[in-house]
Amino acid sequence: MQRSISLAGVTDVLLIRPSAEIFLKSEGVRRSWEKILYTEIKKAIGEVKLRKGRGRIWIENEISPEAEERLKLIFGIQSFSRCERCDLGELEVKVLDFWNRRGNKADFTFAVRVKRTGLHEFTSQEMAAKIGALILDHHPDLKVNLDNPDYIIYIEIRDRDCYIFDEVIEGAGGLPYGVEGKVVALFSGGVDSSLACWLMMQRGSVIIPVYFDLGVFAGGEGVKRAEKVASFLQLYQRDFKPVKIDHGVFLSEVKRVLKEARLDNYRCLFCKREMYRVAEKIAAREGCKGIVTGESLGQVASQTLDNLFVLDQAVDIPVFRPLIGLDKMEIERLARKVGVYEICISIKEECLAIPEKPITSGNLKKILDLESALID
Ligand code: ATP
Ligand code: MG
Repeated sequence: MQRSISLAGVTDVLLIRPSAEIFLKSEGVRRSWEKILYTEIKKAIGEVKLRKGRGRIWIENEISPEAEERLKLIFGIQSFSRCERCDLGELEVKVLDFWNRRGNKADFTFAVRVKRTGLHEFTSQEMAAKIGALILDHHPDLKVNLDNPDYIIYIEIRDRDCYIFDEVIEGAGGLPYGVEGKVVALFSGGVDSSLACWLMMQRGSVIIPVYFDLGVFAGGEGVKRAEKVASFLQLYQRDFKPVKIDHGVFLSEVKRVLKEARLDNYRCLFCKREMYRVAEKIAAREGCKGIVTGESLGQVASQTLDNLFVLDQAVDIPVFRPLIGLDKMEIERLARKVGVYEICISIKEECLAIPEKPITSGNLKKILDLESALID
């Protein structure tokens, strides 16, 4: 693809579309969120000149392909496009010129899509039809196909400014960095909790990840996996650095106490309830509004509705489970889309303390009785 061709009267600009939901907010909220977004853009790609206006941001400087890649990691950006800008009076000449350089291939179908804001004597549809006819005049071998074209030429008209482009690059979407505040996450580095963290980040949460090192019960290289996945998530949240908690000693105690009580199948519930309690303490210290986990309904090792209820009783703050209603396939699909799936599965980890048949409907009273002996 050709880039940065500067013609007289045509300027290359990068047009950024912030997430539409930012503009559904009240004036004050919208402004403060936009400000965060501008700061994040500058942090990611350096001091650039940003022009702002009604639902769009334009970067007027030339930016490198690497900087463009970094834009894809900023929450609050729906999509962006490299455009050529011209005045409405020059639009037809410039569109033809753009076409000749970028779209000019024989024997294929195309569509023109026009978006417009401001007062004009034409509708978007009329302008699209006019430009389409103009292209056909010059290239009678082409065909228009509005439903499934091989090539789309987009034109955005804002008052007299016109932006011509043929590519819409998808951004990370969601809400700008941290606008919702902080949460603690039980982060194992597995597919589920990693995706759960990403989803909460995308909704404007800053995550404090907590990793529990299983010690003698760690099968595989969980610590290494958590670090590897964390460094990927740092692309989205610079300070995504797991707090490490030694969980092995606690688990040994649990194993001993439950063996005596002949309740080995309760191990997972005891293990998780302790994770929740530790997370709650960290949340209180850090001013977090809840705990995020990768649990989803009906998954292995105890994720039944009954057990999730029992887990929730361990703490007084909200537990957020962004994956609760998703099945394994859907989780995998999303994790692949985000780019975290391959990293999570590249290092193996398993828990050696999982009993043969974890209980699916834990009895809270039994748990509370035994826990009083375990927890100081
Ligand atoms: P994941 O893919 O996130 O590891 P999982 O499918 O293996 O989840 P479980 O082992 O039952 O499921 O864990 C449920 C949730 O408990 C995880 O999604 C995560 O939030 C938390 N969790 C499990 N193990 C750890 C750990 N070692 N450190 C921190 N959190 C953990
Ligand atoms: Mg796991």
